[in-house]
Amino acid sequence: MKELTTDYLEDAIEDSRPFAASGNVNMSLPNFDETMKDMLGVSIITTDQQCYSAGDHLQVIPMQSTSKVVGLMLALQDFGKERVFNAVGMEPMGDFFNSISQLESFDTSKPFNPMINAGAIAVAAMIKGQSPENRFSRYLDFLKEMTDNDQLYMSEDVYEAEKANSARNRSLAYFMQSTGTLVTDVEEALDLYFRMNSVMMCSDDFARIGLFLACGGRSPQTGERLIPPHHLRTVKAIMMTSGMYNSSGHYAVEAGFPCKSGVSGSIIGAIPGRMGVGVIGPAIDEKGNSTAGGALIKKLSQDLGLNMFGEKGGFG
Ligand code: GLN
Repeated sequence: MKELTTDYLEDAIEDSRPFAASGNVNMSLPNFDETMKDMLGVSIITTDQQCYSAGDHLQVIPMQSTSKVVGLMLALQDFGKERVFNAVGMEPMGDFFNSISQLESFDTSKPFNPMINAGAIAVAAMIKGQSPENRFSRYLDFLKEMTDNDQLYMSEDVYEAEKANSARNRSLAYFMQSTGTLVTDVEEALDLYFRMNSVMMCSDDFARIGLFLACGGRSPQTGERLIPPHHLRTVKAIMMTSGMYNSSGHYAVEAGFPCKSGVSGSIIGAIPGRMGVGVIGPAIDEKGNSTAGGALIKKLSQDLGLNMFGEKGGFG
């Protein structure tokens, strides 16, 4: 077992960076280009608020699908588990994250789970607020509070790109309207989903979200519980089974803790009772997961004994 130090993290970054070569940067995101391919940054924040970071940890990227865990927390808070999972399933799916065929193959009235696009759009429709603006500001305020970062913002450029490339997501949403899964305004649900994907953050912020999930859903400023433990358990379980898309089984075996990735190369990891992990590594594989970031997550698990299925109190 290795000791968690900044030097250890710097070495782990250099060991994992070569895995970026097998991935590709998602050029449909504004300002994403080849020069970002080798970027890799990591942050870890422990329960006792020790922060360790290394590599390109200050590089800011859009949340993309890591927003799906935050949306799910809010929807669970607003509607409760039963109603949320009435609209969306909790089963893993072997297809790509933006699959259309899955909408007819599982249960014609709901998508497989909240970690794929269709499920996250259905979840976005369940975030309460008096107006679309209010729903997004609730989301952003919630993020600012859990990351202790009031500088977080939505990139207009990323939001415009999400809208410009939205044919697939629109198809998913309108299909769900046709089956009665989406009963609220489809355009409003989509717009909120695009905005949620477009919030910019660095690996320190992703690690804070991981810590929030891992350790009681408390505000870092006030210690107040913002999300009750039973909802956090649900979110972490869904991350474990579906957070890395159709590689989730692989990550459950090789890393053994709940993770969620996004096509910007972001990964949030939550090690219950211990720490939050944030990774950015823009080169992604065909399933949408950061190649160097994924290698790093697996290395951290091995070196630091983070696998929840081990013997020593669940870890090791
Ligand atoms: N913006 C992307 C989409 O909606 C996010 C998907 C992802 O990160 N996997 O398709």
